This record gives sequence, structure tokens and C-alpha cells, in this order.
Amino acid sequence: MRALLPLLLLAAAPPAPTRVRTPGGSPPAPLTTAERAAALEVAANYARLFGEAVPAGGLRVSAAGRVALPMAEELSPEAIAAAWAREQLDTPTRREKATVARGPQGAYTHFLGTDPPGSDLWGEPWAIIGFLELAAGWQRHCAALLPPAERGRCALQVGDFSWYEDRRPDPLGHKDHRGGCLDLRLFRTDGSEYEAWWDRPDDRPAFAAAGGGYDRALTAAFVRYAIDAHSVPELYFNDPQVVGAVALPGHDDHVHICLRRPVLP
Ligand SMILES: [Zn+2]
Repeated sequence: MRALLPLLLLAAAPPAPTRVRTPGGSPPAPLTTAERAAALEVAANYARLFGEAVPAGGLRVSAAGRVALPMAEELSPEAIAAAWAREQLDTPTRREKATVARGPQGAYTHFLGTDPPGSDLWGEPWAIIGFLELAAGWQRHCAALLPPAERGRCALQVGDFSWYEDRRPDPLGHKDHRGGCLDLRLFRTDGSEYEAWWDRPDDRPAFAAAGGGYDRALTAAFVRYAIDAHSVPELYFNDPQVVGAVALPGHDDHVHICLRRPVLP
């Protein structure tokens, strides 16, 4: 057993943070001490909250010092193709909506939409940590609301966090994500990993015919939780029956949420 210990410690250690090149940008500069410390703090919180290390290559820093939301698993082309069949993603537009990566412990997933791979999960380090705390806390909260077989529906389906740097509007189409806000799909009743609308049926005929789609109760429970337990300062979503959400045009198929920036002592 003693011989295993160093190996176990090695397995739990975070990967080295690496700088990625922004499209069109200059070659990546070495990380500053502060950037490295901030990325490692993200990794430490990920490990603390989910009990596993960020995988190798999963701790990425942009030229502007933003950190990418770490994922536990990038799905293989075979797994994505299987999802196309399972989810009836039969057109290019629908296929863009497939899940491409999973976070730790089923807490969150990522889909690309029309964004280039690697471009849409950037946040200021404090916001990435804030999201990890929100996702872990919501997992526990949601687990108490649903029977075990249905807890997959608790996953936060992340569309966009922010762009590599502070450009407004950013190339992802957001006026104001600022490295601290993100878009989440609405929760669904049927376990499908696809977008839902609060005000219209699923655009896939078989899913619409089966009556699956928007789960108002679970979405409202999430909004309540995010406001009460995480004091989120900004939350846009258009269903008037969801208490606490502020209506804003364009927010019928996702919840836009900004994380609360911690006050430094
Ligand atoms: Zn948004």
C-alpha cells in the first residue's frame, strides 16, 4: 500500500496551467506568477468540490488571463455520433446543439452551438470558481428534489461562458458577459440533453409528440436556489411564472446568469 501512495498523490495533483493562443493573437507568453496562482486556485476548488483532479491539459489560461471552465471529459466523435442518433439530431443546426463535454460528477455539461471549439468557456478566475460552487451546491440541492434515476436532469447545461478577453459585444454575440456571466439551458422533463423553450414545444417532432420539454418547476427551483444561496446579481429569463427572473428579449431558451464577485478583504 505504501508504494501506491505517491501514485495516488500524483493522480490527485492538478495539471500544469497552460496558456492558449487566441485566434489571430501573438504566440502565447509565459504565465505570470499571479496567473499561475489563479489557475491553480481554480483547480484546487474543482478538486475540493468534486473530489477529483482537473484532467491533464484541462487548465487553460487565455492571453487576457481568463481561465477556461475545466471539463472532466471531452466526448469522442463516436460518443457524439451516438448522441446524434439518440437525440434525433438530424440537421447541422440540431447537431451543433449536442453535448460535447462533461464536467465532474455529472454537475455540468457543455454544448458548442455555433461557437468555434475552445472559444466560449472563458471566465475571470473568481467567476469560474463561483460557477463551480454554484454547480456543486445545486447538485446537492437538486438531488433532494428528484428520485435517483432522474438526477441526470440536474446537470447545468452550459452554452456560453465568455470569450477569451474583454470585448463588448464579444464575438460569441453577448453584449455583456464580462468574464463573469454565462448562459444555461432550461431544465427538461425528459432527460434529453437539448434546448427547451418556455413558450413553445421542442423543435424535434418525436420529442414534441412525446410531450417532453421545459421543466418549469425544476427551472424555477434552480433560479430560486441561485438567488437565495449564491446571491447572483443578475439573472435574465422570460417565463413570468419563474419568480426572481428578469425578462429580457432573447431569453426564451436559456437563463443568463452572472456570478457574484467576491469582495476582497
Ligand atoms: Zn447571456
